[in-house]
Amino acid sequence: MVLNFEMDKVKTELERIRPKRVLVQLPEGIKQKALDIQGVIEDLGIEVIFSGETCWGACSIATYEAKSLGVDLIVHFGHAQFIKSDFPILYIEVRDELDLIPILKRSLEKIKDYKNIGLSYSIQHRHDLDMIVKFYKDNGHVVTVTDKKGYAAFSGHVIGCEFGGLKTIQNQVDAYIIIGNRFHSMGAALAVEKPVFLVDVYNDQVTEMKGVRDKIIRQRIVSIEKFKDAKKVGVIMEVKPGQKFGSPKFIVDKLKKAGKEVIVITMDEITPDKIMNFYDIEAFVELACPRIAIDDFAKYTKTIITYKEALVATGDRSMDEAIKNGFI
Ligand code: SF4
Repeated sequence: MVLNFEMDKVKTELERIRPKRVLVQLPEGIKQKALDIQGVIEDLGIEVIFSGETCWGACSIATYEAKSLGVDLIVHFGHAQFIKSDFPILYIEVRDELDLIPILKRSLEKIKDYKNIGLSYSIQHRHDLDMIVKFYKDNGHVVTVTDKKGYAAFSGHVIGCEFGGLKTIQNQVDAYIIIGNRFHSMGAALAVEKPVFLVDVYNDQVTEMKGVRDKIIRQRIVSIEKFKDAKKVGVIMEVKPGQKFGSPKFIVDKLKKAGKEVIVITMDEITPDKIMNFYDIEAFVELACPRIAIDDFAKYTKTIITYKEALVATGDRSMDEAIKNGFI
């Protein structure tokens, strides 16, 4: 990784906005840059506070902290805008300026049987999009950049809970390439029915996500079936403004009609130790990031499923539909 924190943009924007006090959010992997960032912002005469809370995605917007602290602006690094907010936020995407050509060259052998490719990237590679498209075209491929759909901020932009842009081009492509990390490509492999290749710039590998889809589908079906058997269930809502997937009232009513005893729980972040204390609750539905249940299920001692999976358990959605949409 060769990260560019776009501090020129930070300075320009802060000089324009002129906040007195800002709350800075950094994703986990770049929190070690806090002192450098503080130096630049303080030189402008602005007070800086860093959020020490976890920041896994652009959904993790610290508006509650910001309002409580009385800051004028959130400066959110590492992601693009996800949802509209009632609080001013400056998004700094952070570029990875690593030379991608060597790994793109290595990807050619893996995708040689697929002429038409769909292309997505994680936000740190947006500035390289034209170069990547040209590279694959020059090497004989027809490239379709995925559509801007739902939570995606740009055409081609992939995030872990939004694969609508990949789905809309599914009939035009033979395979997908994801420039980014395993998290995004795993979600993509689950959401589409064509081969997905990860150009993993962080581990310097090109990997076909073959087998991942079938394994996760089997695991999710088991979780949904176990949830159906549970008599006492918890519905977990997160308080982060961007992590509200589904209607709590709707699912609570449905679960009660299905004969379950239901409690509603709120958390600022769902973790296995927090839900462990609700020891008499047999299974949970989480209405926060759907990838918590899908990716981290093994960390939980009790069954945990997504909102859309809970709709399958109550008979309001078919299993086929859930599989088709990657359970998200
Ligand atoms: S996948 Fe999860 S962490 Fe990432 S943006 Fe979506 S809700 Fe947030």
